Amino acid sequence: MTHKPGIVVTGASGRMGQMLIRTICDSDRAHLVGALERPGHDWLGRDVGEAMGGAALGVPVTDDPLEAFARAQAVIDFTAPEATLEFSQIAAQARAVHVIGTTGFSSDQLAALKPAARHAVIVRAGNMSLGVNLLVQLTRKVAAALDVDFDIEVIEAHHKHKVDAPSGTALMLGEAAAEGRGVALDQVSERGRDGITGARGAGAIGFSAVRGGDIVGEHDVLFAGEGERIVLRHVATDRAIFARGALKAALWGQEKQPGEYDMVDVLGLRDPI
Ligand code: NAD
Repeated sequence: MTHKPGIVVTGASGRMGQMLIRTICDSDRAHLVGALERPGHDWLGRDVGEAMGGAALGVPVTDDPLEAFARAQAVIDFTAPEATLEFSQIAAQARAVHVIGTTGFSSDQLAALKPAARHAVIVRAGNMSLGVNLLVQLTRKVAAALDVDFDIEVIEAHHKHKVDAPSGTALMLGEAAAEGRGVALDQVSERGRDGITGARGAGAIGFSAVRGGDIVGEHDVLFAGEGERIVLRHVATDRAIFARGALKAALWGQEKQPGEYDMVDVLGLRDPI
């Protein structure tokens, strides 16, 4: 391992890709060695710093993950599920830590990540921020403390460009609530209510998604009882929190054995409260 790990950012032109590139370039603990975009993208061949409207960084944008990952100790990947699956195999061949921020995986796609984790470190989290990962732990504890007289609803809001719903973070929170209650989320989740739905089922965990404007990400976990409510809330106002978390994961992963990890491992929050 080099003293300062070299990092490749995939989806370099994306909202998170650009934030990651700035975060890595501002850090004295890592350096940018590659920037990847999809075939046909108009940034290909250009210096990524200049394409972002700033100074040259000496890193041309490429669509060749094999060549780019071979030079890297870590790949930070906030793209789309199909692309991330392909990258996981190539990152594993290169023995590079694969930090996955991409959301919207099906359960089959998640299972398809497993072979790569036998050869390399994968850190995957639907949300890379410290605050949300703490909220996940709190949600599990509160759900375990309350009985099913408290109805659990996860309400999330994101910008108008987001393509998946509920958000990866909402699903993490739902999973934590289900775990706290000792049930499987897919047995109790209620999504996309519309029309004459009938009364709410006891023990259900409901999800609602709001989409609009430039909302970075807001999540409420509501525990609604008779005569009282508890609301656990996280509000993200700056994407930099996700980029800082992802960089932290890339550095943390350098010392670890192959396997699948999440941000709770990286942040040491397994049992904070
Ligand atoms: P975005 O659409 O702005 O960026 C995605 C980028 O990926 C685009 O530039 C696109 O061209 C690129 N891309 C797609 N396929 C590719 C391929 N095969 N090769 C290379 N590049 C490819 O989206 P965004 O807002 O940056 O979000 C990206 C993903 O990250 C989403 O799944 C989002 O939900 C997730 N996200 C996760 C967190 C977290 O903390 N885990 C935070 C924010 C966003």
